Amino acid sequence: MDTHKIHPVPNVRAIHNTAIVIDTHADTAGRFVDESFDPEKDAGKGHWDFAKARACNLGAEFFAICVDPVRYKGHFTRRALDMIDSVHEIAQNHPNDLVMAYSVRDILLARSGPHKRIAALIGIEGGHAIEGSIRVLRNFYRLGARYMTLTWMNSNELGQSSGDLKLDQDGKPDDRGLSDFGREVVREMNRLGMMVDVSHVSDRSFFDAVTLSHAPVIASHSGSRAITNHPRNLTDDMLIALARNGGVAQVNFNCGFISDEFIAKSKAFEEAHPAESKRAIKLWHGPKTPRSRAELKKLMAMKEAEVPRPPLSALIDHFEHMIEVAGVNHVGIGSDFDGVECLPQGIDGVQDLPKITAALAWRGYSTADLYQILGRNVLRVFGAVEQISRHIQSGQDPDRRPEVAGS
Ligand SMILES: [Zn+2]
Repeated sequence: MDTHKIHPVPNVRAIHNTAIVIDTHADTAGRFVDESFDPEKDAGKGHWDFAKARACNLGAEFFAICVDPVRYKGHFTRRALDMIDSVHEIAQNHPNDLVMAYSVRDILLARSGPHKRIAALIGIEGGHAIEGSIRVLRNFYRLGARYMTLTWMNSNELGQSSGDLKLDQDGKPDDRGLSDFGREVVREMNRLGMMVDVSHVSDRSFFDAVTLSHAPVIASHSGSRAITNHPRNLTDDMLIALARNGGVAQVNFNCGFISDEFIAKSKAFEEAHPAESKRAIKLWHGPKTPRSRAELKKLMAMKEAEVPRPPLSALIDHFEHMIEVAGVNHVGIGSDFDGVECLPQGIDGVQDLPKITAALAWRGYSTADLYQILGRNVLRVFGAVEQISRHIQSGQDPDRRPEVAGS
């Protein structure tokens, strides 16, 4: 515990508006491609658009490039390329609102002009998108990818995911961790200057990656398993390892990861309404059209009537516990906006991030703490990753990495 609980901060909105606010995970790129979603013209139709992002003083968004492994089987890279292009296209079409960013410097520069533009960054969610090719990884870097989540919910050539763990004959999870290729990928990401993202991976893959990586790693959208027992969340041991590594855990807002009560009630709902639940899952993974969205929204409203959204305090509990375990320099925001069916009460999209700042302030975090959580932590990690990449590329011994600030 390195946070001094002080009296609630009265001018919390001013603090929020002077912070560099960074979210490391939004799934809006899928909408750019599939629905021709435009964050200006289609404002109000999702969790993320320019008006909402500006309302919360958003400094930078990492758009996740998440390729559904079932729907795009056989052409993962092609789908990822389409999604990456869509982010560039949106930035090009809205030069006063959004600007592509490739570095810490770019993020800071985006805010400095008269338009106070939002920096757009790219994260590849799921190593299957490189289809087993280090060359594709390097090309993704050239196109702007600045993190890659080693796995999504599916295990892949890089290693084991937390999403499809099988039990061995003794009833223990058969966790194979990272493969030799996964190790090679982590090393190459260190060399390139791409952040290694350990959200979604299995426990063993997590520890393999943290041990192996010369640079601090991130969990771009993960909560605490001590608070909500879900394999997608990080155990306290993982949080401690992440902090020792100098990394950062960005808290996910998904109701299904932040509330035991929500998980239990969802299960009961699925048992009571199997047909509707199956249909909702199908729509969720299927092609998104305005029509399928409307049907899904209806099914979700039916579920919400029986399974209420968790209170905002459930999400703040994750922040608080993770800060207690890892320290205030190692926790941030990884919303999963436009990628989740349910958000906690009061959080309807990116515009509501100031409510999180206010809730954290009420729990006693100082102005300096809030700045760290809202964006400075992930900027520090990104800067360290850039610095270590330069160190490796200049031919120096990666095992003797330079001293990284704040780690
Ligand atoms: Zn995810």
